[in-house]
Amino acid sequence: MKHLIPIILILAILFTACEQNKEKEMTDNILLAEWNTPFGVPPFEQIKNSDYLPAYKEAIKIHNQEIEEIVNSDEAPDFENTIATLDASGELLVRINNVFENVNEAHTNPELQQIAKDVAPLLSAHEDDIWLNEQLFERVKSINDQKEILGLSTEQKMLLKKTFDSFVRGGANLPADQKDAFRDINSRLSLLSIQFGENLLAETNNFKLVIEDENDLSGLPASVIMAAAETAKSEGMDGKWVFTLHKPSLIPFITYADNRANREYLFKGYIERGNNGNEYDNKAIVNEMVNLRLKRANMLGFETHADYVLDNNMAKTPDKVYELIGSLMDAGLPVAKIEAAELQALIDQDGGNFKLEPWDWWYYAEKLKKEKYAFDDGALRPYFVLDNVKHGMFTVAEKLYGLQFVERTDLPVYHPEVVTYEVQEADGTTVGILYMDFFPRESKRGGAWMTSFRKQYVRNGENVIPVIQMVCNFTKPTADEPSMLSIDEVSTMFHEFGHSLHGLLSDCNYVSISGTSVPRDFVELPSQIMENWATHPDVMKMYATHYETGEIIPDELVQKMDNANKFNQGFITVEFMSAALLDMDWHTITEEKQYDVMAFENASLENMQMIPEIV
Ligand SMILES: [Zn+2]
Repeated sequence: MKHLIPIILILAILFTACEQNKEKEMTDNILLAEWNTPFGVPPFEQIKNSDYLPAYKEAIKIHNQEIEEIVNSDEAPDFENTIATLDASGELLVRINNVFENVNEAHTNPELQQIAKDVAPLLSAHEDDIWLNEQLFERVKSINDQKEILGLSTEQKMLLKKTFDSFVRGGANLPADQKDAFRDINSRLSLLSIQFGENLLAETNNFKLVIEDENDLSGLPASVIMAAAETAKSEGMDGKWVFTLHKPSLIPFITYADNRANREYLFKGYIERGNNGNEYDNKAIVNEMVNLRLKRANMLGFETHADYVLDNNMAKTPDKVYELIGSLMDAGLPVAKIEAAELQALIDQDGGNFKLEPWDWWYYAEKLKKEKYAFDDGALRPYFVLDNVKHGMFTVAEKLYGLQFVERTDLPVYHPEVVTYEVQEADGTTVGILYMDFFPRESKRGGAWMTSFRKQYVRNGENVIPVIQMVCNFTKPTADEPSMLSIDEVSTMFHEFGHSLHGLLSDCNYVSISGTSVPRDFVELPSQIMENWATHPDVMKMYATHYETGEIIPDELVQKMDNANKFNQGFITVEFMSAALLDMDWHTITEEKQYDVMAFENASLENMQMIPEIV
């Protein structure tokens, strides 16, 4: 593909001076140039925000030319000249998009957010141009028709199936008069999902609980208070304490703060994000998205959006999903009710003259756990220093897969907190590169995830190694203490590492099906397998050493943790499954209309017989 750039260059220089200047800009654009970095990783410090949009446009143009070459080929369509060539096309565009999307999610700014909005319709239209390209589909179809007699490998059969399905699901079989409407839906949906995420981030960042009276800190661990003081200081509120909706601030606060009114304030701040009737309100977006998704599914012959999505996954149908989640709810809900009654008894016993509310659950559950199991999560933190957990995780990968993790300090990063590793086989062969970005900041979206700057594939007989990244929002170090994780953060870390290994250990020829490009309901398998190792007693002994004394986590503490591990599972199951059921309810609507979002959600929760103490 690289050879295509000079051809365009020559043409531009031949034609106009104006184009000449444009081309000068193009050659200065690092996103379009060859990357002379170690392992060809993105040269972050050389990328300017202003590079993205012109680079996207150029890369789309080049991708279109590559597709034209496939379509206009004189050769009869075969697997190699159509399916494999299509898989290999768009390499430059993918490279640019992987960098942009990942940086925009992990370290955004208003300029990048604007670019995302400018680029979304371009990318949506470009994708539609491919899936709705009739001549291209003809070629793909003719190969698919003879798939049994082509002597394809298992991997090739999978690529062919996935390619053919992408065309069909992308509207290739639609009547000509529906294609424009279909394009409009895709374009609109791409913008709406960006806007939804931006609103959520703005609402997360805009809400703060500022504490001025030291008494209101009662119950909070010293490290949490210290972190809140540092947050206040960084925002010019020296001497006060600031709590935010970022999980490392929110969760300890609702778990430990004795001040009930403040717990309520912060908790409501969290659950009401996007529902405040302001410019960041997401209700109208939800409404428009579910309607457009339904319309698109109907056009493609599916009854609902859920049918459309699941058809491509292992679960296949909404009925199966409802059956699975329903059985978990049936098991979880009675347990959650018992838990709620236990918490209410504790409130009554404490002389609290009120009914258990959602912002009380974490607080009283922690108290009850201490009472029942003489154990609280806080006792574990000193053993879960982030660096130790990370090395424990690496040791597991070494023992299971023979991998080594060599820290690299010479690779470009997009933020100073990002650390990088070269992942090697036991014999020193490079498997891939791993970026890790651990702490929350206002430029990062919430949650934890794994992504790729480059997926693994084989090009011209050579293995292209993957460049993988995991992004988290973990408890930050303070001036006095290292980052110490909660047990939840430890298991999240192992979980994301499992996804990362999935990407790193990919061994495929074709990029479209490599790494984590598997059905959505399979992709969580490697992460869950890895997550299970986090609390295995033998594994914990390898990494869980006290940050001050160096003492290995005592057996007694591990035993207590183990005893308590079924505690609060009713709540955890119901909280999770109710969100999944609500998502299913939104996406199994069969009627396009204006929904009252809150009324719909309340009806859905009522239908699943949710208890009001859990939201
Ligand atoms: Zn996951």
